[in-house]
Amino acid sequence: MGTPRKIGITTTVPVEVIYAAGCVPVDLNNVFITAPDPRLLVEEAELAGYPRNVCAWIKGLYGTVLRSGEIKTVIAVTQGDCSNTHALMETLALAGIEIIPFAYPFDRDYDLLKLQIEKLMERFGVGWPEVTAAHRRLAEIRRKVREIDELTWQKGVVSGRDNHLFQVNCSDFKGDPDAFEKEVDEFLEARREAPPAGERLRLGYIGVPPIVSDLYDYLEEKGAHVVFNETQRQFAMPFETAGLVEQYLLYTYPYGIFYRLEDIAREVRRRRIAGVIHYAQSFCFRQIEDLIVRQRLRALPVLTLEGDRPGRLDARTRLRIDAFLEALS
Ligand code: SF4
Repeated sequence: MGTPRKIGITTTVPVEVIYAAGCVPVDLNNVFITAPDPRLLVEEAELAGYPRNVCAWIKGLYGTVLRSGEIKTVIAVTQGDCSNTHALMETLALAGIEIIPFAYPFDRDYDLLKLQIEKLMERFGVGWPEVTAAHRRLAEIRRKVREIDELTWQKGVVSGRDNHLFQVNCSDFKGDPDAFEKEVDEFLEARREAPPAGERLRLGYIGVPPIVSDLYDYLEEKGAHVVFNETQRQFAMPFETAGLVEQYLLYTYPYGIFYRLEDIAREVRRRRIAGVIHYAQSFCFRQIEDLIVRQRLRALPVLTLEGDRPGRLDARTRLRIDAFLEALS
């Protein structure tokens, strides 16, 4: 048997289809941000001609694909993700990468989403029986990751950083669901027995995952506990659904800020959150949505943080976090 084909993904897509086809999904965001030198990957994209005033995630993804050498195919989410995806895919196509389009319907239309999933299945040469089996298998792991999330906000025994990492890794199950499940099992075994932690300042984190590496550690150091990671939790698909189409319809991230805010407001109440950090990436179109977030979450203190390049929190951002935490406590 040859090595399974690696399929690059730039955001969460129905990975069940990729696994059903015997291929391995690779979330390029995770590869980029955990690379020993993520800043270099951004610089490589700039050397290739990417403008400075383009989001560093996009440049990092471009650099990651070119450097990997083994990713020859990338799934492009042409609707429901990033406005920069089109240009990213065009530059990757220019470099000889095969691009497979996938679109989340803006209005969450069931039939259109089903059609998109079926087109993806056709492209990978798989049918519903294999995809349904993959859905069931990955649902078992998603269920376990949900328990990690519950231990975070109900017992306080999982750090905001671990909560972020386990959930964000559900976008591709680290390319090996069995190994990832083992990691989850071991983590759960250790944390289930931990005594409930004392009450700390309960925070929510909303927006795309941070490009800076030490945000969660800094918040913990200052006595705050992130008990809700909005987007990462969505990547983990915290829903029990009978079918795959339903699962990707409940997933909020691709369907606009108002649908996301329904989920955010519900979780803020349920998790008794005192304040929210809204992370906005420099040069990201989603920064505009901050005004909607602030208006809709009016009763809740919101700190908007901006990150540009991979690295650590700068002094100004630390000061803003300090002031926010002080005001909350
Ligand atoms: S942070 Fe914004 S601009 Fe950057 S990749 Fe994500 S959605 Fe696109």
